[in-house]
Amino acid sequence: MDTSSTRLSLPSEPRAFGFFVDGAFVPAGPREVFERRSPGHDVPVTRIPKCTTGDLDMAVDAARAAFDDRRWSGLGGQARAAVLLKAGALIRERAEEIAYFETLENGKPISQARGEVAGCADMFDYASGLARSLHGDSFNNLGDGMLGLVTREPVGVVGIITPWNFPFLILCERVPYVLASGCTIVAKPSEVTSATTLILAEILTEAGLPDGCMNVVTGSGSTIGQALIEHPKVDMLSFTGSTAVGRRVVEAAGRTNFKKLGLELGGKNPQIVFADADLDDAADGVAFGIAFNTGQCCVSGSRLIVERPVADAFAQKVRDKLSRAVVGDPLDEATQIGAITTDAQNATILSYIEKGQAEGARLICGGTALDFGRGQYIAPTVFGDVTADMAIAREEIFGPVLTVMPFDTVEEAIAMANDTDYGLAASVWTKNIDKALMVTRRVQAGRFWVNTTLAGGPELPLGGFKQSGWGREAGMYGVEEYTQVKSVHVEIGKRTPWIA
Ligand code: NDP
Repeated sequence: MDTSSTRLSLPSEPRAFGFFVDGAFVPAGPREVFERRSPGHDVPVTRIPKCTTGDLDMAVDAARAAFDDRRWSGLGGQARAAVLLKAGALIRERAEEIAYFETLENGKPISQARGEVAGCADMFDYASGLARSLHGDSFNNLGDGMLGLVTREPVGVVGIITPWNFPFLILCERVPYVLASGCTIVAKPSEVTSATTLILAEILTEAGLPDGCMNVVTGSGSTIGQALIEHPKVDMLSFTGSTAVGRRVVEAAGRTNFKKLGLELGGKNPQIVFADADLDDAADGVAFGIAFNTGQCCVSGSRLIVERPVADAFAQKVRDKLSRAVVGDPLDEATQIGAITTDAQNATILSYIEKGQAEGARLICGGTALDFGRGQYIAPTVFGDVTADMAIAREEIFGPVLTVMPFDTVEEAIAMANDTDYGLAASVWTKNIDKALMVTRRVQAGRFWVNTTLAGGPELPLGGFKQSGWGREAGMYGVEEYTQVKSVHVEIGKRTPWIA
């Protein structure tokens, strides 16, 4: 580990949080507590209560009451916008604290966490405008006796289940938009990364959000998460995580109250590189696309599909780039690639690396765990001689593991890119505008990048095609997801009588 640059200290003791209901923290009290250990250092960093289903009922009741009495949805857009803007400002004020806990619990580099937190504040700024511009439609062409209106109304109580890979970012790609629509929230973060969701709840209350509009329950997915997806008083659920749990969410909605669903699930995202691309720039982008957040990223570019004449040389360029990335202590400001977030994910990634070798793929670089004395780290890994039927080419590994497959024609590149159950994201690298547009239009993915990767922001919607999910988050599309449409016919003057 490089110790020459600035490194933040570990906390002297873990910080204890309560869960958050009706505008206030509820201390753990007699409940069981989950102690989170930093994956980068293996020391305890937070203590989080394991909520009971009774706690969940309390949180849902608070959100239900806050929605039903219209204390939030009944406000004008201007008042809702003011709260969201204030929340953005408070996130900026507490940015260092949020980034610190995000890094401690998740293992991502502190510099990256700071960037994400700044982006999250911006989400609140942007969504504040949407609270004021959200509107419906009108039909003034129904004849002199009739006016047609289409209004957008908030869906109600929204459950938000978030994963551990971007605990604060994914939360903030949802919460300000949900609140802009007038809905109220019960959030359930991953048990291993709950701290920053709890901090956000506190910030929102300080920003003036009425009590009951943002509640956070903590605990494991299999207990409290499952109870939330089955809860009959929750009107909509936004779930981000694995395709397997996504299926359970769909089943639970069908079994209970047909709650509306937003699903953002897995990806096995192609990076198509043509020989005419700026290959140095593309190699840097491909390295970033697979190693950012240690590849624990639903939109990571894990399948490199590269034009055959440059395939070997390009794979070497990517290897050279990755060999210079700084892997190590997440609290070190120079670190670019941090720790693997959970023991289970660490084991999964290493097992895929073994499987790739057993299936006959050729290791171009990486392929091993890195030993820094404590914590869990994996070297960025690139496999050549990969065929489309191999598990490493088909299944989401969710780690820094890139597969390389060559192509000969544009048609073949498009077919290879689409040869997956997923459709979350894709990139194309070329200086030829025709090829770029042809590929962009024909590859099935909810997010697309041309000569870049992993670009984002609050304006453009997020979501997937095929088994990568349903619905969209962020942008105006994201707010509209949390509304339902009502059609209104208004008679002007007198009806033509039915019975004369
Ligand atoms: P999960 O789908 O298990 O977890 C995502 C969220 O769902 C967490 O908050 C989890 O809680 C919760 N959860 C788990 N089980 C249930 C359940 N039965 N009912 C309701 N909520 C539940 O993903 P993992 O964390 O296990 O990651 C496994 C794989 O998922 C990864 O390898 C990757 O393929 C994919 N993934 C995709 C993400 C994306 O952004 N699209 C993000 C994260 C993972 P808890 O963690 O407390 O158990």
